[in-house]
Amino acid sequence: MEDMAQFAQLAQLAQRNPEIKYTEIFINNEWHNSVSGKTFPTINPATEEKIADVQEGDKADVDKAVAAARAAFKLGSPWRTMDASQRGRLMHKLADLVERDSVYLASLEVLDNGKPFVDAYEGDLGEIVNVLRYYAGWSDKVCGKTIPVDGPMFSYTRHEPVGVCGQIIPWNYPLPMMAWKIGPALACGNTVILKPAEQTPLTALHVAALVVEAGFPPGVMNVVPGYGPTAGAAIAEHMDVDKVAFTGSTEVGRIIQQAAGKSNLKRVSLELGGKSPLIVFADSDLDDAVETAHGALFGNMGQCCCAGSRTFVEETIYDEFVKRSVARANSHTVGQGFDLKVDHGPQVDKEQFDKILALIEKGKEEGAQLGCGGSRHGDKGYFVQPTVFYDVQDHMKIATDEIFGPVQSIIKFKSIEEAIDRANNTTYGLAAGVFTKDIDKALTIANSVQAGSVWVNCYDPGTLQAPFGGFKMSGHGRELGEYALHEYTEVKTVTIKLPQKC
Ligand code: NAP
Ligand code: MG
Repeated sequence: MEDMAQFAQLAQLAQRNPEIKYTEIFINNEWHNSVSGKTFPTINPATEEKIADVQEGDKADVDKAVAAARAAFKLGSPWRTMDASQRGRLMHKLADLVERDSVYLASLEVLDNGKPFVDAYEGDLGEIVNVLRYYAGWSDKVCGKTIPVDGPMFSYTRHEPVGVCGQIIPWNYPLPMMAWKIGPALACGNTVILKPAEQTPLTALHVAALVVEAGFPPGVMNVVPGYGPTAGAAIAEHMDVDKVAFTGSTEVGRIIQQAAGKSNLKRVSLELGGKSPLIVFADSDLDDAVETAHGALFGNMGQCCCAGSRTFVEETIYDEFVKRSVARANSHTVGQGFDLKVDHGPQVDKEQFDKILALIEKGKEEGAQLGCGGSRHGDKGYFVQPTVFYDVQDHMKIATDEIFGPVQSIIKFKSIEEAIDRANNTTYGLAAGVFTKDIDKALTIANSVQAGSVWVNCYDPGTLQAPFGGFKMSGHGRELGEYALHEYTEVKTVTIKLPQKC
């Protein structure tokens, strides 16, 4: 936030009791109850109270959604015959409607996910609007090539939509994750079945209502709330889904890839977990490095796939870095997201809360030094105190496992070679950061770390036009930017015989 006055103004916009309008399954531009008649509760993580019961989609509902998406993808359908530029106009319209409803959507997210209102409004809502507009612009710019093949032949490629795309998203950034998935899929002319995370279904359902208002043809976009092992698995295993895109845990990513292999070999893209290193050299601007390393981990209560969860610090500045990092972590106001002063909300659910607290205990047991935090905050809601461990060793569980919570691990290093080896000593490879004023060091790190994104003297600056994705077990395929379009197009080569070479 640039200044407190602006912050106060924004937070006052929040609707503390946003009306819950949509809790059903969205198929073919209509609202449906689940075939099974089942519902599931969605919970406010700040109060542990139920917000609403949501229709629980499973295999039968996924089948209906796939049938609708398949019909919408049929040759000759309104979606398939629509000019690409018109697709772009519909996406721009959707972005405008999301922007119109930003305060409402951000308020709904505070309720469902727990994040502070300003983060939801400025961060998540700003991002979904920007990503939808970015891909709206791509709609009529996805094109093939003409190829100088041998012989009297004319060859060209067409970049065609893949077809019916299943998209399974997590709860940490519900609307940005939706935009990262539907943006390139719709721009390329695919149809979509989206499964939001069971913890945070509400905002995706509101955006579904806006899809109708924007004027998308029925069946182009479908939203099936429900649980992973039922609704999610039905998408991944479906014989008539052409592609599945997933963001979430590495464990579930593996299941999705297996399901694709065992069914119709549908195309798969996976954006999974991380244990991303942020390497701070002694020549850095210390204030900037401490603040950025802090934000890299504590942003969104640590619930970020690319969180800088291993802070490597050069030994000559280590003690001072730890001291300042602890002071910074202690400066948060923890509480529920509608509260003006709050900048640190609850974890998303009890499962995450319990997992994080167990890993904190493990850190203590294994001998890491606790700088601050280390337990729950208060006695209601899934709040975890901002926690800093130092003198963390590479073998400790807090240094190897994705915590996905507000737990910073500060690790000492001596040389650049050692920093690179230790940074790469993980099964993950999503992101990395380096702080230094020495261009040689910065480039050596950038070229040596195995990670899909490397940030120099910054961390996750939100460059939506540039690709994002993982090396190693952090997944495959790329989201965002032009690269994401490759995940949503089939390349077809057309060759025409000519009377002679000319
Ligand atoms: P998760 O289970 O991987 O959830 C992500 C999405 O996948 C949700 O929509 C989930 O549905 C669905 N899913 C679960 N099991 C499935 C299956 N068998 N087939 C198809 N879809 C399935 O993640 P989580 O349990 O919420 O969190 C566990 C850990 O994953 C976290 O602690 C964190 O380490 C990591 N995580 C990473 C990211 C990321 O951005 N890379 C995001 C979230 C979590 P449900 O709603 O029913 O779970
Ligand atoms: Mg889960």
